Amino acid sequence: MTKKFNDAKDDDDASTSTTKTTKEDLGRATWTFLHTFAAQYPDEPTRRQERDARELIMILTRAYPCGECAAHFAEIVRVNPPDCSSGLALQRWMCAVHNEVNASLGKAWFDCAKVDGRWSKLECDESDASPGCSLEGRRRKMMR
Ligand SMILES: Cc1cc2nc3c(=O)[nH]c(=O)nc-3n(C[C@H](O)[C@H](O)[C@H](O)COP(=O)(O)OP(=O)(O)OC[C@H]3O[C@@H](n4cnc5c(N)ncnc54)[C@H](O)[C@@H]3O)c2cc1C
Repeated sequence: MTKKFNDAKDDDDASTSTTKTTKEDLGRATWTFLHTFAAQYPDEPTRRQERDARELIMILTRAYPCGECAAHFAEIVRVNPPDCSSGLALQRWMCAVHNEVNASLGKAWFDCAKVDGRWSKLECDESDASPGCSLEGRRRKMMR
């Protein structure tokens, strides 16, 4: 295991120098994750899926690597509690809170009616050997 990791490291020039991650890099990556998660979230989530989604958001308000952003996001979430009742509800909520962050940074307001055109589910092969990417498909396979 360790050898494999070291071999991979030797092949990767980037591993010899640290690349600095900016607040902006982290923000773009996190929004990609969050909007993709929302695009994939089921129309009729189970109680467990709803709890997971809410916890994921609450964890960000405490553990997001940028402390100033986490505190700011915590206040936004306090005023706008997460709506994880369906895929559409979560996509709208995510777009709305992203807009709150945009507004505080002087960035343009995003038209949430167009969120479907900007963010989509992860492209992913689904086979019997793999659980695939949709939460619904994953649940069906786990229940077999
Ligand atoms: C939870 C969280 C809190 C943050 N808090 C702060 C903070 O307090 N201070 C700070 O300096 N930075 C904060 N950031 C980072 C900030 O939001 C941006 O990610 C960063 O400034 C880079 O901005 P950007 O212009 O490249 O686009 P981003 O805002 O990162 O957006 C990425 C892409 O998402 C799309 N998009 C934009 N708005 C929406 C929307 N409403 N709905 C759907 N898609 C949209 C656009 O296509 C855009 O190019 C936070 C990030 C996160 C995830």
